[in-house]
Amino acid sequence: MIHFAKLRLAGFKSFVDSTELMIEPGMTGVVGPNGCGKSNLVEALRWAMGETSAKQMRGGEMDDMIFGGTSHRPARNMAEVTICLDNSARQAPGLFNIADELEITRRIERGDGSSYRLNGKEVRARDVQVLFADLATGARSTAMVSQGRVGTLINAKPSQRRSLLEEAAGIGGLYTRRHEAENR
Ligand code: ATP
Ligand code: MG
Repeated sequence: MIHFAKLRLAGFKSFVDSTELMIEPGMTGVVGPNGCGKSNLVEALRWAMGETSAKQMRGGEMDDMIFGGTSHRPARNMAEVTICLDNSARQAPGLFNIADELEITRRIERGDGSSYRLNGKEVRARDVQVLFADLATGARSTAMVSQGRVGTLINAKPSQRRSLLEEAAGIGGLYTRRHEAENR
């Protein structure tokens, strides 16, 4: 099994200073007062897994992921989120199966878009999206249930429900690849 081991943020939304969170076995919740950044943490995970819609991230544009400043802190021009995966069982798919510890980083520069790295080496957004689809934890997967999602699923069309079954069957990544091949 591959485990999420750590989450590292810098300049992402309200996390202006470098912050590292250990994700230890048995962790069941994050608690804190309103507005302290709990939802921002979940969004950081989703963003680093390759989310392409700023709206899904409660932003107007992707630059809104960068710390925008407060009355006593100036805005930043860069945000970075790293997900550290424990791959000691060496089960990561394809080009990702390179080390016991995998660090997947997404970085955004204001006005200049996003880039992705795997253990320091540049990779494509697509590679990261397919990795997490293979692991069935992708940005749009059922592993992340946002507010209102349950109602959406109940009212979904059969074709939309089928994608849930495909994900449960672990073929989400395959489907993403087929789609990519068809569009070439
Ligand atoms: P609740 O308990 O109400 O759900 P929460 O802990 O989930 O709260 P979040 O929604 O994660 O809180 O955090 C909201 C805070 O993040 C707000 O104070 C908002 O101003 C701040 N925030 C969001 N985007 C940015 C940004 N780009 N720059 C600076 N601060 C930001
Ligand atoms: Mg919240």
